[in-house]
Amino acid sequence: MKILVLNAGSSSQKSCLYDLDILPSHPPQPIWAAGIDWTVNPDYGVLTVKAKGIKQEINLSSQDRPAAIARMLDTLVTGETKVLANFADISIVGHRVVHGGTEYSQATMITPPVKETIKKLIPLAPSHNPAHLEGIEAIEQVLGDVPQVAVFDTAFHRSIPPESSLYPIPYQWSELGIRRYGFHGTSHQYCSQRAAELLGKPLESLKMVICHLGNGASLSAVKGGKSIDTTMGFTPLEGLMMGTRSGSIDPGILIYLEREYQYNPDSLNSLLNKESGLKGISGISGDMRAITTAMAEGNERAKLAFEMYIHRLKGLIGSMIASLEGLDVLVFTAGIGENSALVREKASQGWSFLGLELDLAKNAARPRDEDIATETSKVRVMVIATAEDWAIARECWHLSP
Ligand code: ADP
Repeated sequence: MKILVLNAGSSSQKSCLYDLDILPSHPPQPIWAAGIDWTVNPDYGVLTVKAKGIKQEINLSSQDRPAAIARMLDTLVTGETKVLANFADISIVGHRVVHGGTEYSQATMITPPVKETIKKLIPLAPSHNPAHLEGIEAIEQVLGDVPQVAVFDTAFHRSIPPESSLYPIPYQWSELGIRRYGFHGTSHQYCSQRAAELLGKPLESLKMVICHLGNGASLSAVKGGKSIDTTMGFTPLEGLMMGTRSGSIDPGILIYLEREYQYNPDSLNSLLNKESGLKGISGISGDMRAITTAMAEGNERAKLAFEMYIHRLKGLIGSMIASLEGLDVLVFTAGIGENSALVREKASQGWSFLGLELDLAKNAARPRDEDIATETSKVRVMVIATAEDWAIARECWHLSP
């Protein structure tokens, strides 16, 4: 079965094609992978395609996104990266959709009402849901009536109980949708399943904290395979300190900035989403590699940014442990979680009262899908390579008619 996955962001469109005879337990390599980056130049996007050991880079002639997606799909059936005789060979298409609101607790076949819901939720995900709709419609144009599946970032967190999913503001606002949705759900779910599988333990028996630490970052508390708490909320701004996002701050700061410094929705959005976090404190970058490099060179603000990052990370790990009332497995994933031994080491310190002991040698040895706790540790610590695209393909496999 040939499964096409589309993963649209606000400024990028990634896609890959899996060719499966059986459903493997390990994530396989896609036979074709492509990405469009709209940030390189304001006038055009750059398309990169990898297939058959070849890497192609194509400058697109305009910012017209549907045309760019059509051009990207064209590389499946023409030119050096051709892997399909024709588009009819594609059995099913899976889309990552950031916001599914309260409507969807699992992956869903895309029908006109599902598209309507994604559209209705645009105010809650203004930079993502329109891009997903563009992707869905581009597939309709190019591939006709192939089955399409939406895999929602919010779906895994629909099991979070009201005491955690509601905000303590007048109740009627929650009925109007101001509530905690949580994000990165596909990654949290995949990593919790993969960690249980690698440990050879039933998922139902485990209490896990998943630390998805990328440019955007969130934690989840997973009990018996279900999300019972998470750190992102109404938007992906809540929770941890991130690359350029502040994470949770006193909401009184917003009122103060509006009153005393004439901030408005646009300037607040830019301040809190783009100029804060590691970048805002260090004044250097939102990229963890740049922070740790500057810190090693003695830069005090980089050191402060790093220490704040760890302080807030540990605080929210504690909050997830409180929701779980215990901890069996601590999982690190995404760019920072998978690659920064220093972040893992610092985030794992101070939990000896829970019996958590990190094996420093294993932690430093570039682990991937491995347990890095000592043999005697009462809590397992895992590094899992997240595989959102593969998780989406797996959902397609299961839903395929
Ligand atoms: P996104 O949320 O955009 O998908 P990623 O999961 O790719 O982000 O994570 C990006 C982050 O991972 C950046 O902060 C980057 O510095 C960090 N990162 C990537 N490789 C390393 C590394 N070797 N050491 C430390 N941090 C790393």
